[in-house]
Amino acid sequence: MYKLTLLASLAACALFAQASSQPASAPGRFDLSAIDRTVDPCVDFYQYACGSWMKKNPIPPDQAMWGTFDELQERNREVLHQILEDAAKPAAGHDAVTQKIGDYYAACMDEKVLDAKGLAPLEAELARIRNLTDKTQLADEIAHLHAIGADALFDFSSGQDFKDSNSVIAQFDQGGLGLPDRDYYFKDDAKSVELRQKYVAHVQRMLELAGEKPEQAKADAATVMKMETDLAKGSLDLVSRRDPEKVYHKMTQQDLAALAPAFRWNEYFTSSGAPPFQSLNVSYPEFVKALNTDIQSAGLADWKTYLTWHLLHSVAVALPAAFVQENFEFFGKTLAGIEQMRPRWKRCTDYTDEQLGEALGREYVERTFGAEGKQRTLQMVDALEKALGQDIEQLSWMTPATKKQALIKLHAIANKIGYPDHWRDYSSVVIKRDDALGNRLRADEFECHRVLNKIGKPVDRGEWDMTPPTVNAYYDAQMNNINFPAGILQPPFFYRNVDDAVNFGGIGMVIGHELTHGFDDQGRQFDPKGNLADWWTKQDADKFQERAACVADEYGGFSVAPGAYVNGKLTLGENTADNGGVRIALMALLNTIGNQTAKIDGYTPEQRFFLSFGQIWCTNAREEALRLQVQTNEHSPPRFRINGVVENMPEFQKAFACKPGQPMVAAHACRVW
Ligand SMILES: [Zn+2]
Repeated sequence: MYKLTLLASLAACALFAQASSQPASAPGRFDLSAIDRTVDPCVDFYQYACGSWMKKNPIPPDQAMWGTFDELQERNREVLHQILEDAAKPAAGHDAVTQKIGDYYAACMDEKVLDAKGLAPLEAELARIRNLTDKTQLADEIAHLHAIGADALFDFSSGQDFKDSNSVIAQFDQGGLGLPDRDYYFKDDAKSVELRQKYVAHVQRMLELAGEKPEQAKADAATVMKMETDLAKGSLDLVSRRDPEKVYHKMTQQDLAALAPAFRWNEYFTSSGAPPFQSLNVSYPEFVKALNTDIQSAGLADWKTYLTWHLLHSVAVALPAAFVQENFEFFGKTLAGIEQMRPRWKRCTDYTDEQLGEALGREYVERTFGAEGKQRTLQMVDALEKALGQDIEQLSWMTPATKKQALIKLHAIANKIGYPDHWRDYSSVVIKRDDALGNRLRADEFECHRVLNKIGKPVDRGEWDMTPPTVNAYYDAQMNNINFPAGILQPPFFYRNVDDAVNFGGIGMVIGHELTHGFDDQGRQFDPKGNLADWWTKQDADKFQERAACVADEYGGFSVAPGAYVNGKLTLGENTADNGGVRIALMALLNTIGNQTAKIDGYTPEQRFFLSFGQIWCTNAREEALRLQVQTNEHSPPRFRINGVVENMPEFQKAFACKPGQPMVAAHACRVW
């Protein structure tokens, strides 16, 4: 459940995944032309490191944000595009995997066939909902909708038991909303009120496109809003959800049924196809009670409306053009500020990556990732682990007893680099060259069953939560491992032929960031085996809280737009990981280069380290996208990921000869790790 990632990827929702309109080109060497030398690095380091890049790289119209890692993502997408174009060409020689991704992509690209079919491919699903005759049938229908990827009412999946990381149990979580987070349903500032009105109008238009009369669709959209608002009221907020103790309530199926007797749980679990199980984790029991009230108060007609909306919403991108456009208008344009939709090939490439990721990723790895990349990354990981060990040993605020435990945890962290040892087997997924929608539903169904089938089985520690071409990385608190997909092990994070300072500021910082997640406010609550278990003395835990509060206050003061601030508590784990990650990456660099001080391009190794760190985050962002990010994302916007860190670091201030009182010298510097 707790996978802590590196990037504030808006692509978590595929409706506004990132892409570029720029031609992709091979990356050059570490490029100092991004720097804006008219800015004093001690006044605004982000502007100094990225100012010229920002001027030269306006946001493409089909993007919410545009940064240096989007350029890398774009290069990766070009590789995937080529693979898919090759695979989609009819040829007798294709192996089964190539045939599958080629057919999926070809079907997705064939807009003419999609438009000609209209809603016909979805008719069987719509009819299932239309033909419900009694609310007792809801359980079975919702299980079916979950299998085909619709987020109706709640979320049911599997995951490691927080308190026994060797066992995989069933997991029940809140869900069923169309807006990005529960708070969107209540906030009463003018922007939020307007967003809600536009959301309801969007739901109405989608229902009209599906054949409802305007009057009916209008009434139905209001019903959807009311039902989702009720669910939102019963949902736990994002900050609380970061606290593992607040989302761990293991209970039996009978306990769950007692919380919501109006729902037919037995039928749901049977229909879901999950293996039999006794107990499950219910993240937030209050939500189950709210769900029970909803089941009782809303009539069958309202439920049909709600389920129809969620079905349409979940498959919108695979429907005829009018649906795709309407979906983009709200989730792309209104919510994220994106001006125009990405070209179809980019969307279809991303959908293939999302749905058949390890089939596509296998070929990507063959074309791009060599043994050398893995070896050099392992060396860096080793250097970063040593530095974090040193850092822990030198901490002034922690007692030897807790330090000892922290080191045990550090040494237990496993590394995964590049791609999985065993590729996922998609042979049971039926992919047809003329059925884009059906392909999507069947791939979702495969994934849903794959996840549920893990219940009661041994934990697969070789499994990846990201596909190989992904430009991102994560720490998994329950596995106690760090994961770096092949996609990120490239410039500007990692160069084959540059000085160490640049690579330690790039991929070194990324590795340090992920390692530090094991010790942020969330990760520190898990032990070396990935169990939620307290290994801290009371005194050290108090000291940690005090230091973490400093970081939360610091970032909570950063504003992205009028009235929109970074949420210091929501982003605490990520900010802690950024601060710790940069510090230990610098330590690892100095361990590696010794007292070497020779300048390159006029910069000392320390200066190049910080510039490299700054430049992996060079980004232009739309105001809507920033507003969305601070409301829903655990990562701070790029500017603050840079300035928020360096203002805490005497090492930075020394490297650039900053003076007390300058903006990049915090009066009260925060430091956890
Ligand atoms: Zn992170």
